[in-house]
Amino acid sequence: MTDLRLSGIGMTSARTRDRLVQRLREQGIANLAVLERIRNVPRHIFVDEALGSRAYEDTALPIGYGQTISQPYIVARMTEALFEAGAADSVLEVGTGCGYQTAVLAPLVARLYTIERIEPLLARARERLKELGVRNVRFRHGDGTLGWRAHAPFDGILVAAAPLTVPEALVKQLRVGGRLVVPVGPEGEQELVRFTRREQAVQRESLGAVAFVPLLGGTA
Ligand code: SAH
Repeated sequence: MTDLRLSGIGMTSARTRDRLVQRLREQGIANLAVLERIRNVPRHIFVDEALGSRAYEDTALPIGYGQTISQPYIVARMTEALFEAGAADSVLEVGTGCGYQTAVLAPLVARLYTIERIEPLLARARERLKELGVRNVRFRHGDGTLGWRAHAPFDGILVAAAPLTVPEALVKQLRVGGRLVVPVGPEGEQELVRFTRREQAVQRESLGAVAFVPLLGGTA
């Protein structure tokens, strides 16, 4: 990847990004730190060059292997949902994909752990984040349904693919007060849910209807 691509021309202009941020504000994203990240992360480097001109549209785009880069609104919404109660120290992301959500999240937390089941996607994400100078991320090729026990408990867990039911391991790896933001349900009927772990119980809030690729078991 060339410096030219990173520094950006045309489609990456400040105005194009401002428009995206303005649109997200109108849709109800209010957290300024999150909006700043959406403005600053060069989304065009996470998609194929042929799709670069569409990178600042608020839409999901293909990233290969049947997967998609998440829509900026959804990335912003999920990140905001994780932080509403304040800062998070250590966060687990399941479904690295192209690494866009990872790049948005990383500077907002002390330590970010990310798991992806498709190895070539993980390898590319790792390269891109290195290029962007992001250093507080640990990557793992594996099945995120199981979480990442060695680094648990987490203040927050964000899942970028939809399981039919919430994986038990993820709830267990939350610290008391920690939050799990996850799309749940079959295709066409998914809702974004936030679970907050309490001393004796787990609180569940629905954050509305969403459309994600399925969370699959095993690795590829
Ligand atoms: N936020 C990512 C979204 C990628 S799509 C981005 O912006 O690019 C969801 C990703 O979850 C896909 O890459 C898919 O391979 C991955 N995934 C699905 N099931 C998984 C599992 N059990 N463990 C880890 N990753 C998984």
